[in-house]
Order: sequence, then structure tokens, then C-alpha cells
Amino acid sequence: HHPGIGAWMTKRRLKSADKTALIHGESTVTYGQLADGADRVSALLRQHGVGKGDAVAYLGENSPEFLKVMFGAAQLGAVFVPVNTRLAPPEIAHVLTDSAARVLIHDPEFAERVANAMGAATTVHILVTGEGTAERPGLDQLLRTATVQRLDVALRPDDPAAIVYTSGTTGKAKGAVLTHGNLTWVALNCIVDYDVVSTDVALMISPLFHVASLGMGALPIILKGATMVLEKGFEPGRALAQIQRHGVTMLSGVPTTYQLMADHPDWATTDLSTLTKLTCGGSAVPVRILNAYEERGLSFSQGYGMTEASPSATALPPAMTRRKQGSVGLPHFFTDVRIADSTGAAAPAGTIGEIEIAGPNVFPGYHGLPTETAAAFTADGWYRSGDLGYLDADGYLYISGRLKDMIISGGENIYPPEIERLLNELDGVTGAAVIGVPDARWGEVPWAILTVREGVAVDTETVREFLDGKIARYKLPKNVVIVDELPRTASGKVRKTDLRARFGA
Ligand code: ATP
Ligand code: MG
Repeated sequence: HHPGIGAWMTKRRLKSADKTALIHGESTVTYGQLADGADRVSALLRQHGVGKGDAVAYLGENSPEFLKVMFGAAQLGAVFVPVNTRLAPPEIAHVLTDSAARVLIHDPEFAERVANAMGAATTVHILVTGEGTAERPGLDQLLRTATVQRLDVALRPDDPAAIVYTSGTTGKAKGAVLTHGNLTWVALNCIVDYDVVSTDVALMISPLFHVASLGMGALPIILKGATMVLEKGFEPGRALAQIQRHGVTMLSGVPTTYQLMADHPDWATTDLSTLTKLTCGGSAVPVRILNAYEERGLSFSQGYGMTEASPSATALPPAMTRRKQGSVGLPHFFTDVRIADSTGAAAPAGTIGEIEIAGPNVFPGYHGLPTETAAAFTADGWYRSGDLGYLDADGYLYISGRLKDMIISGGENIYPPEIERLLNELDGVTGAAVIGVPDARWGEVPWAILTVREGVAVDTETVREFLDGKIARYKLPKNVVIVDELPRTASGKVRKTDLRARFGA
């Protein structure tokens, strides 16, 4: 009998009912209350005909309800589908249809977008969070009146707990099926490698619908019975204030969030002395951000992962940040990483190849996509990440870029992130993407697509001059294009497929 992650609630109620699980605005929620809420959600979903294997989608900002719904669905054996609130109606429609969500729960402010997304979706019930109205009671009202009874659904570790959609950086977003086992092991990996303890106070500034925030933040914290300060959104000044007010020990974010905090006028005067665990993922952390935090005695644990690894695969211990500059660290305790050359054989240390991952946090496949699933695994069951990188002699992983983004110019491999990192250090540059553009002589040549601060003059000449001597000449962008905005996914990643379509022909 395996009760899945839903049982974490029952266990937490037994072990630490009065401990504060969440601080949300001015209100607090204990583990007892959170577990009670999850039980009520289970009862409510059951009333709406949800059973084992049915998908329950959630489109909302961070709130206690998000977690009550996730655990309440898990208790029933239902499959939780978090939806990115920045998705446009056709993208929401894709998620609802693809996952065949039976129920959608959304924040009231997304009503119009949901209405526009509904066309093709087979979603039967739509509920709103909050109080709602007399005619259309919201989740709060419905949960107050829900009759609570323990629902015990027998599950196996490989039963699906969630379908989480990839960012869609390289194409259409794919629904990664994450099992109860996957979510348990990612939480255990993070607890071990980030030293999560029950006295930790984590500031949650990233949305829970991002699998990083969920798998590396909420789940480890709940499993340990620690406390999270759950922010509805991210505002750098407020984040700094919350760190000081609640004695925050743990913070995770992406490079941009850390940059915005360091740039805020309150940065210098905020007491950051309680902060001991900073994690940063999603993309490489620029050196200027590392420096700004190190000046305050703070080091990052950087990590690497993807939705398919629930999402964390590696972690760089903060003590190694300087010695292993640029590395995303070592594989998690229960996870392994290897590098495959173009024939699939193991590449020696220092040689770039495709990063492959194995472990109990690695997903079983994409929902409804057997061909993509088969292509995503090697014959011996390792996940083929589609990312390029190498391991150094000590086993530390370095990311070189995505296989699909690699540029081959005159027979030489060019890895765009190497150039992008340098471009980001050029004064006035606010965003950089390097893509390969077809060239009669070289096959492909790199172009740099940049966004710059207003009034800054950057052109091909200045960029080439800045880069000359820092990288090999064949890597110098042949052309520099300044754009108002780079096309990005809802999670902030540059869609290079769009750039190649625009400049490639
Ligand atoms: P899609 O799979 O739909 O094209 P995606 O791969 O961007 O989108 P995610 O699962 O959100 O979707 O992102 C995982 C990817 O992000 C990784 O495969 C890798 O390319 C990139 N990534 C993650 N962490 C890092 C990091 N620390 N440094 C560089 N790149 C990273
Ligand atoms: Mg991907």
C-alpha cells in the first residue's frame, strides 16, 4: 500500500498540527489546517465526480488554496495540472484539452481568459477561488460546507500525481507526467542536498505553477514540516522586507529575481543575515549577480534541471561557487548524470556531449505522446535531456547549451550560451540571444539579437570589438540586430525557434 504524496498531509497533521506551514499576507495556516483543507478539497472533488486518474487543472497565483487543491487531488489519486497564469487562451486550451482536465479551478481574475480558452476543452466543471457569489459560490464557500471524510485511495509510486507542461522553448509545450514517486524523490533530493531542516523559513517568490517552485520549494518544505512565506507575486522591495520580517532562511529564484533585488534601493539596508540557503536555476547566473550577493556574504547553490526531472537534477554546493565557477554542480544524491557522445557512448571527462539523467525523480513519459516519449529515453532507460554539457574530472557538470541551438560554422561547433554570457556583460545590453543563420560559405554563422537600454548605441562593430580576443574569431557574431523585445515563453526563456524563423531565411 502506497498512499502517495497526499498522505504527507495526514502525517504532517499527526506530527506537527500546530506548526505554521504557510504565511500568506497577514494570515497563517498551520499544518493541521492545511491537511483539513486538503481533506475538504478531496471531498469536494469527489462530489464533482473526480476519481483516481482524473485530471484537475489549477490556474491561479500562489495561495494556500493552490496547495490544498494539489494535496486534496493527490489524496484521491487525481492528477494535478498546474497552469502557468501567463499563458494566452490558446495555450490554456492546449493544456486543458491535452490533459483532459475534468475540473478547472481558477482565480477570478482569469475568468475572461478561461472563457476564451474553453472552445475545444472538455472540462466539465469550472470553479473559482475565493468567496464567489450567492449564485456561484467560490472555493472558500464550497470548502466550508464540504463534508470531510478520510478518503483512502491505494496508489503505487508510479501512479501519476501531476502533468506539468514544459516551457515550450523548443516547440509546443509537452505534458510531462510526474508520478507520486517522482515528487517524493525530488523532495528528498533537495532536502539532502540543500540541507532543508524543519526550522527553515522559505520565501516563495516564484509561482507554484512552476515545477521548480513546487518540486524544489513547496514539496521539500512540507515533507520536512518547515514554514513557507507564500508570496502572491514577486516585487523586489517587498521580498526584501519579508526576508527581514520573517527571518527568512531559504530563497530560490531565477537570475532576474536576484538581479532585481540587488538593484533595489532597500538592498543595502535590509538585514539579510538569516539567509543561508539561496538557490538559483533555470539558466546560468551572470557573474555580476554572483558578485553582488557575495559582497553581502551570500553564496548561491546553482542547479540544473528540467520539468522531466521533477525538475531538479544537479546542485552546486555554495562553497564550490567560486572554485567551480560556471558549473551547475553534482548530480543529486539519488540521481545520476552522464554524458553521451554523438554515437551514444560515454564521453570522457571534459568532452561535450548530450546530458543524460537517471533516477527516481525522472518522469516516465509525456502524456499522450508515445513517439516523443520513446525518443526521450536511451535503450537503457536514461532520459535524453537534449542539452549539451560536460563533466569535469571531479564530476561537476557544465552546461554548454541546447542540442537544437548549437551552431555549426565551417565545421566548428558554437555554443550560444558562451557568447550570450559575454554579451550580457556589455554595458547597456539587457538581453541577448545568439542564433545560427544560414550562410553560403560557412553553412551557418552566429547572429546576436539584442535588447539594449534606451539611448544606448550598440551595433555589429561595437559588439565584435568587445568580444574580439575573448572568444575565437569564428564565434564573433556576423551581424547584430537590436530588437525592442525578445520573444519569450511564459517562463521567460527566449524562443529561438521564433528568432530563427524571423532572421534565419
Ligand atoms: P521545452 O522542453 O518545451 O522546449 P524547456 O526545455 O525550456 O521547454 P523546462 O523544462 O522549463 O522547459 O526547462 C528545462 C531546460 O532549461 C533544460 O533542459 C535546460 O535547457 C534549461 N536549463 C535549466 N537549468 C539550467 C541552467 N542552470 N543553466 C542553463 N540552462 C538551464
Ligand atoms: Mg525541454
